Amino acid sequence: MLLTGRTLSFSGDPAVDASSVKYTENGAVLVSDGHILWTGQAGEEPADLSDGAECHDYGDNLILPGFVDGHVHYPQIGVIASFGTQLLDWLEIYTFPEEARFADRDYAERTAKLFLDLLVANGTTTAAVYCTVHLESAEAFFAESSARNMRMIAGKILMDRNAPQNVRDTAQSGYDNTKSLIEKWHGRGRNLYGVTPRFAPTSTPAQLEACGTLMSEFEDVYLQSHVSENIEEVQWVKELFPGARSYQDVYAQYGMLGSRALYGHAIHMDEADLAQAAETGTKFVHCPTSNLFIGSGLFRMAEICASGVDVMLGSDVGGGTSLSSFATMKAAYEISQFCGYSLTPEEAFWLSTSGGAETLSLGDRIGKLEAGFEADIIVLDLYSTPIIRQRMNQAKSLRDMLFAQMILADDRAVRATYVAGNLVHRAADMEIRSV
Ligand SMILES: [Zn+2]
Repeated sequence: MLLTGRTLSFSGDPAVDASSVKYTENGAVLVSDGHILWTGQAGEEPADLSDGAECHDYGDNLILPGFVDGHVHYPQIGVIASFGTQLLDWLEIYTFPEEARFADRDYAERTAKLFLDLLVANGTTTAAVYCTVHLESAEAFFAESSARNMRMIAGKILMDRNAPQNVRDTAQSGYDNTKSLIEKWHGRGRNLYGVTPRFAPTSTPAQLEACGTLMSEFEDVYLQSHVSENIEEVQWVKELFPGARSYQDVYAQYGMLGSRALYGHAIHMDEADLAQAAETGTKFVHCPTSNLFIGSGLFRMAEICASGVDVMLGSDVGGGTSLSSFATMKAAYEISQFCGYSLTPEEAFWLSTSGGAETLSLGDRIGKLEAGFEADIIVLDLYSTPIIRQRMNQAKSLRDMLFAQMILADDRAVRATYVAGNLVHRAADMEIRSV
């Protein structure tokens, strides 16, 4: 299969090296067996590779690697846009009752299907996904992700206190179920497992210890959780774990930091926290629409990146307000403006593709239009709405063009999504029914 159009990819962080932006006006991507075989100028495809290829000409549309979402809760799509609470009340009032429904395998399956339909309709081809505490919710998710051959990281939540009975496990059952899910799904197809304690307040010390044990037993699985999102939450952690220097230090004490550990939010952090994260290789996932919506605070992106911590972007739906990476990039820009820094569109698109893939330790497999990479590819219509068309008339540079997209575009811009070389979404056949 040969895709032609404008192409965009990044060979590295554009904030460090401007020449890492790889943009081609008349580009081509040759795909075979789920992988990219070759990329370059249209018309210059090597004959031996392109012979007999089916050609999809996307004209002036932009072809780029699929978006990567570093933090999202699939069971929360039903409670997205819930009014009037901050984090701890939001969990209690909206989230826990909805998550309780995922003990029902059928509901979990239907929601997983809807979630993945929505994800690819938004151009997201890889995500780090929280399921619920129920084994069934993770089974349903991995089964659906497998059926679509998607590169996904997911895990069952561990939560054994400070939550209603119907969304709790125990230290032992959390460990046992996580272990069996890892053995069944980690590395099966393109699935990867993330050990997923919700956050320190809802796990007993025994459960956190079990998470640390799992991390040492399975070297290459991920760990995902939340840290320092909300002031009240930080205070609560201080009361629950008086022996820890800080919220993040609770996780350090249980062996839960490291290069495979992804922590959402990381807003209320001090210098020692940042140094500890940088030293251990721990990653932060910035979830800007969620931070604004729940009123949690402002993530200091420039300062955190400068401290040597790897960062990526996440939607954090249902705390976040959109599955669209455009919405996430826009909110990241708005928050960076408050923090005395203007996030460039090159940086935002990099974070949402290969930069995010690198933070997930998947930078050698996804996130770039390069030979040998997995063919998770999206095609964006750069003129998807009347106001964008008007704005694009004035766009004089690639930066300008990308910035207009990141501020104004949404899922209507996603014309096609390919997962492992298969066309899984086309704007024309968009019909997604609710659960
Ligand atoms: Zn979250």
